[in-house]
Amino acid sequence: MDFSGWEKLSLVDYDDNITTTLFMAGCPFRCPWCHNSSLVLEPGKVGHIPWSEIMDYLSKRKNVLDAVCVTGGEPTMMPDLLDKLADIKSLGYKIKLDTNGSDPVQLRVAVEQGLVDYVAMDIKNCEARYAETVGVKNLNFAPVKESFTYLLTSPVRYEFRTTLVEEFHTKEDIETLGKMIRGAKVLYLQEFIDNKNCIAQGFHTVPKEKALLYRAILLKYVERCELRGYD
Ligand code: SF4
Repeated sequence: MDFSGWEKLSLVDYDDNITTTLFMAGCPFRCPWCHNSSLVLEPGKVGHIPWSEIMDYLSKRKNVLDAVCVTGGEPTMMPDLLDKLADIKSLGYKIKLDTNGSDPVQLRVAVEQGLVDYVAMDIKNCEARYAETVGVKNLNFAPVKESFTYLLTSPVRYEFRTTLVEEFHTKEDIETLGKMIRGAKVLYLQEFIDNKNCIAQGFHTVPKEKALLYRAILLKYVERCELRGYD
């Protein structure tokens, strides 16, 4: 299975590493506020980049690039993800994996085989509002729970991240979310910006003052909590 998008140079995806970012099309979720609607809804219509082309690029830039960010959509849907991570690792790159936590088995194996150096996992909401926040009726929450529970005690560096959307997050939801990931090392609260590429329209940004209030609530449960995207 091929990647569908490629940002060849990024300075913002993985700490201060010079990174190249690969996008996989497809996702089991349908977050109505998702910015990647074409990647999520029409994975068959987006491009396919031959793996040999990516490996050739990475081979020639070992002295320029530090890391590869593997993102989506949802990259753990890729059946040969572990093989591709191993190929990248064989060239000596650090790897960051972005995931929504829907495949705890691939996540665990990738970590345990030393194929990822950093995991960024979305925590979309408290459990009671997860299904509506990810746009999936009758969602099975168990895989998501298994993924974040694993990361909470895993040796791999990780971050949790929650995109705040006014229609989905109340003070009470945030308090419950905090209890759910109690003990987490770091949670980023990301600013939602509406645009025409969202899966659905009509959602609103949580104002900075409210995001700061949410941060204060979450600091009762997590070691670090930072705003991301807010000025
Ligand atoms: S925001 Fe939601 S729908 Fe979009 S890629 Fe992430 S998990 Fe999938």
